[in-house]
Amino acid sequence: MNFIKSKYFSGAGIVLLAFFIGISSYWVGSNRYVKDFDGKETELSEIKKEREEIAKQLEELESHLENKQKRLVQLEKQLTRFEKLVNEKDEMLFIKDEQFKEFQKLQEEKMKDLEAEIKRLNEERKTITDKKDKTPTPTTPTANKKVFLTFDDGPTSLTPHVLKTLKEHNVHATFFTIGKRMEAMPNVVRDIYQEGHMVLPHSYSHDYAIYTTFETFYSDFYKAEQTYKDVLGFKPPQIFRFPGGSSNQSSFQYGGKQFMPSLTIDLKEKGYTYVDWNVTSGDAGPDAKNQAKLYENIVTTSANKDFVIVLFHDVSSNEATANVLPEVINYYKKNGFTFRTFRDVTKEELQRMEALKLSNKTISY
Ligand SMILES: [Zn+2]
Repeated sequence: MNFIKSKYFSGAGIVLLAFFIGISSYWVGSNRYVKDFDGKETELSEIKKEREEIAKQLEELESHLENKQKRLVQLEKQLTRFEKLVNEKDEMLFIKDEQFKEFQKLQEEKMKDLEAEIKRLNEERKTITDKKDKTPTPTTPTANKKVFLTFDDGPTSLTPHVLKTLKEHNVHATFFTIGKRMEAMPNVVRDIYQEGHMVLPHSYSHDYAIYTTFETFYSDFYKAEQTYKDVLGFKPPQIFRFPGGSSNQSSFQYGGKQFMPSLTIDLKEKGYTYVDWNVTSGDAGPDAKNQAKLYENIVTTSANKDFVIVLFHDVSSNEATANVLPEVINYYKKNGFTFRTFRDVTKEELQRMEALKLSNKTISY
């Protein structure tokens, strides 16, 4: 007890005792812990496995989810596109619809306008028809169609035949006579005039040499006028026809190309009217003896004309000319022409001739 009671002993003893207790407790405790540890480890391993399993599943799910999300995004994108398309379609349809409505409206308006126009035209037609029914039918406008039959180069032995035919058809004509022929057959000239026809100068000689100078021309020209006066008893009017017409080329070899241009100016200044023609029978050429051809030439050159001066030649060999006359006269009568002569030619007719270049035609080369 003393030992226990000693300070040292008691300190060491407590430490020793504690150590002892400690060891024993550890032993007991650790035994129990080892047993427990084994169990816990198994459990932990299972949990671990489970967790791995779960993690795996989770991973799969996540991947699946990811896929789904991707798909969803795709679908959403598609939907957006589709919605956009639908909107556009709707818009287009709306526009189309509006346009169609507009078009329909316009069509309806047009239809209305057309109906109104048709109605208006029908009314107008009725007014015109009524007016037409009330107005007397106008007479056929033949008054303005005129034909001047002209016979050049006489008088000859053919002249009586021509005069007879004209008388039979109650038609008057104009004869452009040659001075020297008038001197040879003055009675025929007087017959022409007495039967109501007109006689006008066509030179004295009918020689193209007259176109050499003004002097040669006027010498012949005035001689023709004098002969005219001698035969008929009065001065001829200032109307005549040039041998070969105003556009003749026979003058070229005598007075040159510029002779006719200057001569025509001079004659117009002197107050003369020179007359040409716009319908020719062709009886001064190769058709002279072909009556059918003469008729054809006249009809052809008369086409679309309502003011004509027809050229014939009163020469002794031209029987065909005298024979074709009845047909020609009928042709003009049938086509509504009035037979006119220079005996009573009007101012208006002379103006019309000039306008048609059938008289006083300007010559220039
Ligand atoms: Zn002639």
